[in-house]
Amino acid sequence: MSIVANKPEPLLYEMSNPGTIGYSLPESDVPHTPLPTHLMRADLELPEVSEVDVVRHFTRLSQKNYCVDLGIYPLGSCTMKYNPKINEEAIRLMGMSAVHPMQTPDTAQGAMQLMYELQEYLGEISGLPAVTLQPAAGAQGELTGILVIRAYHMSRGDTARSQVLIPDSAHGTNPATSAMAGYQVVEVKSDARGNMDLQDLRAKVSNKTAGIMFTNPNTLGLFEEHVREVNQIIHDAGGLVYGDGANLNAIVGIARPGDLGFDVIHSNLHKTFSVPHGGGGPGSGPVMVRADLAQFLPSPVVAKERNSYVFKTPEHSIGRIKSFWGNFLALVRAYTYIRTYGKEHLKEIAEISVLNANYLLALIRHTYDPQIPERLCKHEFVLNGTRFKKEYGVNTLDVAKRIIDYGFYPPTIYFPLIVPECLMIEPTETQSRASLDEFANALLKIAEEARTNPQLLHDAPHDTPVTRLDDVRAAREPILHYKPPSEEKIAA
Ligand SMILES: *Cc1c(COP(=O)(O)O)cnc(C)c1O
Repeated sequence: MSIVANKPEPLLYEMSNPGTIGYSLPESDVPHTPLPTHLMRADLELPEVSEVDVVRHFTRLSQKNYCVDLGIYPLGSCTMKYNPKINEEAIRLMGMSAVHPMQTPDTAQGAMQLMYELQEYLGEISGLPAVTLQPAAGAQGELTGILVIRAYHMSRGDTARSQVLIPDSAHGTNPATSAMAGYQVVEVKSDARGNMDLQDLRAKVSNKTAGIMFTNPNTLGLFEEHVREVNQIIHDAGGLVYGDGANLNAIVGIARPGDLGFDVIHSNLHKTFSVPHGGGGPGSGPVMVRADLAQFLPSPVVAKERNSYVFKTPEHSIGRIKSFWGNFLALVRAYTYIRTYGKEHLKEIAEISVLNANYLLALIRHTYDPQIPERLCKHEFVLNGTRFKKEYGVNTLDVAKRIIDYGFYPPTIYFPLIVPECLMIEPTETQSRASLDEFANALLKIAEEARTNPQLLHDAPHDTPVTRLDDVRAAREPILHYKPPSEEKIAA
């Protein structure tokens, strides 16, 4: 069910037909005023096309795109789950879409109630009751959380802590965040079962440790078996535990990070809580903290006073990290999603996402090589492509590109960095058994092709408007604006 036609698409500029007009405006009823000529560009040749041509052009382009509404999107660590359409209905309500950030609180009580209740739900789900909805992304949530941890140490006069520990399986944003907050990053190794190596952790923790940034389940898709012990080691050294909960899919409604010893955590509403993402649209990465850390949260938080909702600045706030009130419509979608499941059913997200990942793994585990074969996975799993490379001369990029020919979006590849030739697959709970079977069959066929016809994989994808791209050249010599075909440098 390939959705890409193997046909080059004319660019809008090339469709230009001089004299064609794509608009009709009513006659002007104001005096004619010439535009200032210094603002007008003589060399700006806009295409002359009709409205129908424009609509057809962009509709055709949109049909060459792949999206969660078309099929499985198994990008590990990204949680590309289906985005329920009821969320979109909710954001279209006038009180949601037309509320203005400059409105006074007394005219926006409904929107504030939604924010307050979402804070409550996220506090309950995480077991960390104080919440900020401000951060606009997971990475910004991380920075917020680490700044809260820094503010905590400073408030105690504990100013010599200069290091943050980070496991070698961590998402790249974790070390970036710690460095941005002024900390030195100290890496902790993973052991052979995919857990943090406790011996290495003990060797690296000290009175310089401000805290640890720790993802559980980790990016190998495994639940950290020594989670309480890790957190105890950090606490005994006077540090705090930051949980990277970008993806809570495997534990939502079942285990609460606060109960496991985490002090601060962020979660991506655009992963776990079904807000659309992937196209650079607005995200949201709320941060949840222990009650005694509430005083450091960014301003503002929504509080309830008698029967009305008010914005408050926490007493020792780290300040603002985002203008206005966060990405409000992302909050509305996540709120709708949580309310749709309800308290009793939220855990089904975790149960089914873990079941789906293990089902898919079971279908392919004798053909591909799981990184940690002795363990069941959580919401995602990681394959090691070393044997394919050795035996067939086929690398993970080749496998991923061939998946496109079967009409699917490829999984995450070459991450986490500790797994050579890594393929990281996260089906999410929103795939049916039939679609998991279809995807597994494609992977099994590709393994067979790797053995019998590796060139087929090296040249993939075959059925797309552009085939294998030169990534290095694309990064070094990006073409950022339209060039007529005569100037175009990329060979078709
Ligand atoms: C996605 C992700 C992030 C970053 O989230 P953004 O919203 O892209 O900034 C951080 N950590 C983990 C584990 C993630 O999967």
